[in-house]
Amino acid sequence: MKLTADAIVIGGGLVASAVAYGLTRLGLKPVMLDEGDVAYRASRGNFALVWTQSKGPGVPEYQQWSRLSSDKWSELAAELQSETGVDCGHRRNGGIHVCLSEDELAKRTQVVEQLRAEAPPGRYRAQMISRAEMLKLLPAFGPDVVGGAYCPDDGTVNPLFSLRALQRAFSARGGRYFCDSRVSSIAAAPRAFTVETASRSISAPRLVLAAGLGNKPLGEQVGLNVPVRPVRGQIIVTERLKPVLEYPTTYIRQTVEGGILIGESREEAGFDDTLNHTVSQTLAARAIRTFPFLKQVGVVRTWAGLRVMSPDVYPIYEQSSAYPGAFVCTCHSGVTLGAAHAFEYAKAVVDGHLPEKLGRFSSRRFDVQARH
Ligand SMILES: Cc1cc2nc3c(=O)[nH]c(=O)nc-3n(C[C@H](O)[C@H](O)[C@H](O)COP(=O)(O)OP(=O)(O)OC[C@H]3O[C@@H](n4cnc5c(N)ncnc54)[C@H](O)[C@@H]3O)c2cc1C
Repeated sequence: MKLTADAIVIGGGLVASAVAYGLTRLGLKPVMLDEGDVAYRASRGNFALVWTQSKGPGVPEYQQWSRLSSDKWSELAAELQSETGVDCGHRRNGGIHVCLSEDELAKRTQVVEQLRAEAPPGRYRAQMISRAEMLKLLPAFGPDVVGGAYCPDDGTVNPLFSLRALQRAFSARGGRYFCDSRVSSIAAAPRAFTVETASRSISAPRLVLAAGLGNKPLGEQVGLNVPVRPVRGQIIVTERLKPVLEYPTTYIRQTVEGGILIGESREEAGFDDTLNHTVSQTLAARAIRTFPFLKQVGVVRTWAGLRVMSPDVYPIYEQSSAYPGAFVCTCHSGVTLGAAHAFEYAKAVVDGHLPEKLGRFSSRRFDVQARH
């Protein structure tokens, strides 16, 4: 079957869905093509922090971009709820980073001070807090907690509800979403792209690669260098409890439904998303040191997901110079950056050029790194 569209977005996770929804807000009628459940899908297995307090030491552009997205998440969640009736579960009560030793405390203090120094005056709002102040926020902290950092700008969402809301709103505004549609090839000319799936051939003047770990081979077909690799992360989920953790911490949080999420590892394991129980044990041990009551709580589920990681951990945003009209959008914090992708990245695609503030995230930086 042959189709035409205003834009083709390849992927079906949070990054693709946010950009595709953003395109529909600007009046386009795109097609979104998603390989489906056989693919690696970080968007369905993450910890779902919308986080700013640790983002981008030494890279102020990343700190600003993360904060912009965090600031706009409430607007995105409200808009999606009014358009679809789906509550993304966005909460922005503030978040805590926990330190379990004086060494961790010293390192975190350095990060917080650096980020404050690199931000415009008053914009970076995290601060180090004492053990006594931590206990006022969450009395359940155990005796090993020596202090930490608190940031009022941090929060969480429900990633599955967010995905559903973005995709429903996208379809309601005239976008077409095709699941089980792996893109096998792309024929490219400037502002003219035709992609092939097993059952469709789709043409459009704009193309956005937002296929997570699938972006690398797709990028090669349109002159884009997208050197992403998988980094495994494991999460443990407990049985549901009455509300006990009012604030999320970097590695342990309670969902609105009551389960406690314990995360999350960072493992170089290639394309292997099976569980490593030694890692689960380490996560559980740290969780019990942080909140001793967890020792009595049953685990109901564990899983591993693959993060989409660039060589320097920062996003890759680029338009192909060989084939203008083809963009790539990929990052390792696609939950946090959801609002920035929906509101700002989509606009750049429609405008036909990326704004200067995103220049830091061009994939050309890897050519420079390779030369040195
Ligand atoms: C354990 C863990 C914890 C995390 N915690 C957080 C967090 O707290 N906060 C945060 O901001 N981020 C977090 N992340 C990262 C976040 O989940 C990802 O950044 C985000 O989900 C990436 O979304 P994506 O759409 O790029 O990729 P994915 O969700 O991996 O989706 C890629 C999509 O592309 C499709 N695809 C691939 N190839 C093709 C093809 N050829 N044709 C068609 N479709 C294709 C696949 O079907 C898939 O749906 C975490 C990740 C993990 C694993």
